Amino acid sequence: MSAFLGFLTMLELLLYFLSPLLELISLHISWAQPLQEVGMLPLLDIPGVGQNLHDHPGISMDFEPSALAQRLLEEDLTHQRFFQSQVVLRAKSRQCSTGFDLHLVPYQSRKDGQEASFSIMLFHLAPRSRGQVLLRGKEVHLPPKIDFRFFTDPGKQDASAVMDGIDLIRRLVHVEPVANAVKRETEPGQRVRTVRDLGKYAHTDLISYGHASGTCKMGPPSDPTAVVDSSGQVYGTQNIFVADASLMPRIPRAPTNFTCFLIGLHIADLLSKMM
Ligand SMILES: Cc1cc2nc3c(=O)[nH]c(=O)nc-3n(C[C@H](O)[C@H](O)[C@H](O)COP(=O)(O)OP(=O)(O)OC[C@H]3O[C@@H](n4cnc5c(N)ncnc54)[C@H](O)[C@@H]3O)c2cc1C
Repeated sequence: MSAFLGFLTMLELLLYFLSPLLELISLHISWAQPLQEVGMLPLLDIPGVGQNLHDHPGISMDFEPSALAQRLLEEDLTHQRFFQSQVVLRAKSRQCSTGFDLHLVPYQSRKDGQEASFSIMLFHLAPRSRGQVLLRGKEVHLPPKIDFRFFTDPGKQDASAVMDGIDLIRRLVHVEPVANAVKRETEPGQRVRTVRDLGKYAHTDLISYGHASGTCKMGPPSDPTAVVDSSGQVYGTQNIFVADASLMPRIPRAPTNFTCFLIGLHIADLLSKMM
């Protein structure tokens, strides 16, 4: 990465990796209205900057392990075979027509002196809801306002897909050998039986997969919400490029790190050809 940064410096290009959104805002390039609201004068008015924020939303389903599972876990610890997470199950909600749109991630943990816990984290990989990032003020030390607006899609399809995943996990924990290892569901338990319950639960207990994407969306010039073109160049500028997770118009149905590597490589390749 440092070689790549050196290469960019050589080109005298201004390119930012993480937080290009905030960098763009610091250059006074954003949707004019929010900039004016915090007392900054826009140099370029690009309405899509800071919009289209999304991630894979999810919840953690927690279970009390059975006595048998506790005993086997002690044996695993004794023989240094304790693994927190080893597998991901891909699954499909009812609204998914191709491939998969859910990840189920079994996870066991044990803090010193405490009993082990067993969870299955569930993530929705094709969310429709979109959030935004805005400035709180023009002072650089102020953290941005990050609002994922999970489960706010008008058709409630995101919550519905996660509810399908919850139902699937509840069925799975009744199938051997998992059934033998689980005593009871502790979270969310009776609190979440319907999509409506899930909506309420989501206000406090929703988790994200840590894959924030999309706030400098790539798109054609005809798309008024696009921030960068197909080479990562910010519309209306000569020398500002974005090369990170923020340019993804739509998050992939996978953890995002590998895609970010490819974005960096691809844009580096394009820039080297422009030399
Ligand atoms: C806790 C966590 C766990 C994750 N686990 C996985 C995983 O297991 N698998 C997976 O595929 N993905 C995972 N991800 C997601 C993945 O790490 C990110 O999607 C990916 O790293 C994003 O890449 P990026 O280039 O957009 O930003 P980053 O990887 O954050 O890189 C940005 C870099 O730019 C630097 N930077 C920022 N501002 C400036 C500036 N002004 N000047 C110079 N440098 C600057 C930062 O210090 C940083 O080094 C995880 C994310 C988190 C938060």
